[in-house]
Amino acid sequence: MQIKTAEFVVSNSDVSKCPNNTIPEYAFIGRSNVGKSSLINMITGRKSLAKTSGRPGKTQLINHFIINNNWHLVDLPGYGYAKVSKTAKKKFQQFITDYFLRREQMVWAFVLIDIRHEPQKIDLEFMQWMGENAIPFSIVFTKADKLKPKAIERNVNSYITTLLETWETAPKHFVTSSSSGTGREELLEYIDKMNQK
Ligand code: GDP
Repeated sequence: MQIKTAEFVVSNSDVSKCPNNTIPEYAFIGRSNVGKSSLINMITGRKSLAKTSGRPGKTQLINHFIINNNWHLVDLPGYGYAKVSKTAKKKFQQFITDYFLRREQMVWAFVLIDIRHEPQKIDLEFMQWMGENAIPFSIVFTKADKLKPKAIERNVNSYITTLLETWETAPKHFVTSSSSGTGREELLEYIDKMNQK
């Protein structure tokens, strides 16, 4: 898919205020600092469409972007940032879950995982919740440029092995790097195919 246009639409913290139309949407979510803003900028080819933040946990909003005038890319707040107070954390987790449970336009979610780390409890719990609620998603491993190919393979395999301890089949995964552009075409093609259905 070629990205012809990519524009910011709206930010808000309330699912009921998200755009009221039938444009299909694809949501990106992950822990703070996982590289979500960088990935969104990389796949859209826009340097600062999503704001990369030096202060994790800052962007606790649902951000809609319209791509090629025919689909929404949704940038969801990062979860699991330790310095956000318990109440705030609870609140934004609530609106993340609200989003997934209520947003009928949501076609597919991409859960971002930093490829360098061992499986983290919060990510596994989040994916578990997605599975239990039948929310369709794929895993997007980020920051692949930080590892050598062998280490990428080892980490991905170990991640999938962990998932298979509780899942019957593992979700589809992508390996990406915002620095090198790895995975861009594959992700865009995947979205394109779903848009054609
Ligand atoms: P967000 O909080 O999930 O939106 O994460 P950001 O996109 O702001 O990235 C967090 C940090 O990771 C920043 O310092 C980025 O420069 C860095 N980063 C993000 N993606 C990549 C990547 O693909 N490769 C490398 N080497 N660094 C990355």
